[in-house]
Parts: sequence; structure tokens; C-alpha cells
Amino acid sequence: MNIILLGPPGAGKGTQAHRLVAGQGMTQLSTGDMLRAARTSGTEMGKQVADVMDRGDLVTDEIVIGLIAEQLDSDASGGFIFDGFPRTLAQADALAELLDAKGQTLDAVIEMKVDDNALVARISGRYSCGECGAVYHDTTKIPAVENTCDNCGAVDKFKRRADDNEESLRTRLMAYYKDTSPLIGYYYAKGQLKRVNGLGEIDQVATRISAALGL
Ligand code: AMP
Repeated sequence: MNIILLGPPGAGKGTQAHRLVAGQGMTQLSTGDMLRAARTSGTEMGKQVADVMDRGDLVTDEIVIGLIAEQLDSDASGGFIFDGFPRTLAQADALAELLDAKGQTLDAVIEMKVDDNALVARISGRYSCGECGAVYHDTTKIPAVENTCDNCGAVDKFKRRADDNEESLRTRLMAYYKDTSPLIGYYYAKGQLKRVNGLGEIDQVATRISAALGL
């Protein structure tokens, strides 16, 4: 099964993708993670996108479509979770073509609905483990042992994203409403959209997503 997790920044797409990877053996394809990895390894493309990402604007369709195209050949017998992709109608069309060319289908699009106030609160306290990507929060999800990841045990590896600040968040939200939210209508018209309440405990949201997917 191939699915898209669609929602504004801070909706919990990454967190829920990790759950689906662990629980269902799916493969997460996060264009945000791929772009951050390109920056960390200092590639030309990574340098090219750094300022755009820090501002909270969207990277060009060409770059992100290229990143996804490279990954679609990887072995993913449990199916792909597209996390943070597509973010524009052009990307959605490209994904449909890429899947078609591989004889694959898109099975569902989960729209995670979270109101803007909750997004600001979630994003402004967010940090993650640099080793395994597990996500934490200053007030709502603190590791059991200080500076130690509950998931993989890494010590002193926590990091915060450069774009998790109020100004970038405003730009990211604007990009979501302007460029990405038209995808809701696009997938609704195709009969693929499933809407899930993204507010509440991680487990509760995971249960809603599983129910929406018939898992
Ligand atoms: P994310 O981790 O999904 O929040 O993405 C972080 C940043 O990477 C975004 O604010 C964009 O600058 C860039 N980005 C990630 N995915 C895409 C995409 N599909 N299209 C354009 N830009 C993207």
C-alpha cells in the first residue's frame, strides 16, 4: 500500500510515518529529511536549498521530484509513505506519473487536520534525535532520561530544526495554504482523500490513521 500523509507543518506527519514504518513495515519517503541530509553532507543541491528552507519557502518542484524519483526504485514491499511530498499540484501530477511508470498505485491520502494554534505550540517546542529521528517536545514529550533518546539510547544527539521558529513557521503555513492545500480538492476528486483529526495523543492519532486505512 502506498500512501501520502498530507498536512501543515507540525501536523505530526513525521511522527505518524515513523509509527507506520515500525508497525506496518512501510518505507518513509520524507523530502524534508532528504533535503536536510543533502545540506548536512554539503552537496551542491544542499547548498542551493539551504536559504529557501530556512526561510520556510518551498524548494523547486524539479529538485523534490528528482529526489522522489530516485527513491521509487528502492525495495519497499510494505509500501511507501510519502511524507511532505507532494506539496504542489505539479508534484502531485509528477507522482502519479512516476507511480504509473512503475506499475504502482496510490492507495490513500491521509489529510491530518490540526488547527493553527496547536501547530505553533507543537513546532516551537519541537526537537528530535539526530540518530534515529524520534521527535520530542519541551512540554509534551520529554525523554525519560535527560539528553538520552528513549527510542535508540543515543546521548547528547538532540537537535532543533533551523526552520522551527515563529517567522519561518508563518512562511511555511502560508506556503501550505497557498500551494499545498489545493491538493485536498485534487485527491478528494479522485476519491482518495481520508480526513483524520490530528489533535490528541500520538497513539490516538495513530489509531485513527490505521482505521482510515483499514489496518
Ligand atoms: P518538512 O521537513 O517536510 O517540513 O520540510 C522542510 C522544508 O523542506 C520545507 O519548508 C521546504 O523548504 C522543503 N521541502 C520539503 N519537502 C518539500 C516539497 N515536497 N516541495 C518543496 N519544498 C519542500
